[in-house]
Formats: sequence, C-alpha cells, structure tokens
Amino acid sequence: MDEIVNLGTRLPCSWCRALKWKDETQGMCCSGGKVQLPNLEPYPEPLHSLLTHQDPLSEHFLSTIHDHCEKDIRCGIYPGIKPELISQLQKSLNEHNKYIMDFKAAIDSVPKDQKEFKVVINVERKPFGEHKGRFNAPQTKEVAIVIVGQEFEKRDIVLSSRDGTLMRINETHRAYDALQYPLMFFCGEDGYQINIPKRHETTKIPLSKTVSASEFYSYRIMERDGEVCHLLLFRNLLNQFLVDMFAKIESERLNWIRHNKKKTITEK
Ligand SMILES: [Zn+2]
Repeated sequence: MDEIVNLGTRLPCSWCRALKWKDETQGMCCSGGKVQLPNLEPYPEPLHSLLTHQDPLSEHFLSTIHDHCEKDIRCGIYPGIKPELISQLQKSLNEHNKYIMDFKAAIDSVPKDQKEFKVVINVERKPFGEHKGRFNAPQTKEVAIVIVGQEFEKRDIVLSSRDGTLMRINETHRAYDALQYPLMFFCGEDGYQINIPKRHETTKIPLSKTVSASEFYSYRIMERDGEVCHLLLFRNLLNQFLVDMFAKIESERLNWIRHNKKKTITEK
C-alpha cells in the first residue's frame, strides 16, 4: 500500500495570500509583497465548466488537452475531437479574447483600396497613434494596422498582408503567452515582459528594480486563499506551459550573464 505523508496545512502569504507549506520561502510567491500582478480574468463558459468537470464534454476536453497540444486542437488536426467542442470554444474566444476582437476590428478598419498593410502588436502597451499613418487610432486596442514602410520596435509583432514568410515571435513579448496558449490566457492577458516594476509592499509605489521572468511565473502559478488557480487545471498543457516558461526564464538568465559578463570580470 502507498504510504500517505501528511505535509500539514498550507498557510496564506500575508502579502499575496498564496498558500504555502511551512518553511517555504517568502520569495517564492511574491518576493515579500514586491511582485504585484493583476489577476487573470475568471474563465467564461464553457471553459470554466469544461475544466471543473461540470460539462458533459469535460472528460473529452481534458483528455484531449492531455494528449495533444493546444494548437493542434484549435486547428482541428486531431481527428477524434468533437466538432461541438471546437465550435463552443471558438464562439467563446470570439466573445472574450481581446486579440481576436481587436484583430477583427483592425482588419475591418483597412480601407478597401489599401492592398498592402501590416498588423502590429506593440511590445509595450502604449496609446496608439504614436506612429504616423495608422488607419485606426483606438486608445486601448492591442492590434493596430499600419501601412508598409514604417519602422517598428525590434520586439513588436508585425504580420504582413502579403508575405508568406514565417517570423519568430520574441518570447519576452507580453503577447507571447496569450498567443501561444489562448485557452490558458483566454481573455488575452499579458505574459512576462522585461519592464514590469517591483512595487513597495504597502504603498504600491513602483521601485527601480523590475520583476524577473522567474518571479513573474512563480507568482502566476501559486494557488491563493479563496481563489482557484485555473492554470493548474490544464493537466499536460500545464506541463508544456511550465517547460516553455522555464526555457524563457533560462534564456533571460543567460542574456543577463552575457550582458553583465564584462562588468562581472572587471569587478573581480
Ligand atoms: Zn506572497
């Protein structure tokens, strides 16, 4: 018989309410209150019911994301998947995912006679209209259309209307997680980016230090008192996400070493 080990009860962090076992460190959830991130939106239906075994298709959904990556499911590559599951999720994504909504609105804003344009998702959220020549100038939209020949920031996501080439999306772009894992970040919430400030634990005033990728994802995957961490319900897709984010954390660490090598050697 398997031995049952009692680890005791988990106590909430006094800053972020993350549930932790005795002796787990302050730093592992919110760096002693200095990492303060917005909550993820609650999942709309049917995703919430699918993940919490309240939908007749729950087991089908959970075993499907267990065996197949999310992209394959959405593309309908997996032959056994029930079409009604795809159409329900697609409908809900159309209603709740800000990238899908903004993308449609942006494409609709292109004048009919404009044959060449690019779709841009800025690396940083800033009021649109800062670039010249945008067709649409909404203040809080994620997706903008610009005419060709304009300059972009190196890490912006830029899609061309007439270019079949593939592009590499920078993993530290804030949209990376939402575009790579649209079911997990159903409403299109931001992932890690390089300039999120740490904040004073009580006054919430931004500090000069920034949140690292490791701190960002440590915060995201904690279960908090009185809240369900839905990310943890995704079975194997969660494993895939964690491996992907670990690679992001490691590449940030290597970049840091590369940039600070000279300085470190000089200091020695
Ligand atoms: Zn905490």
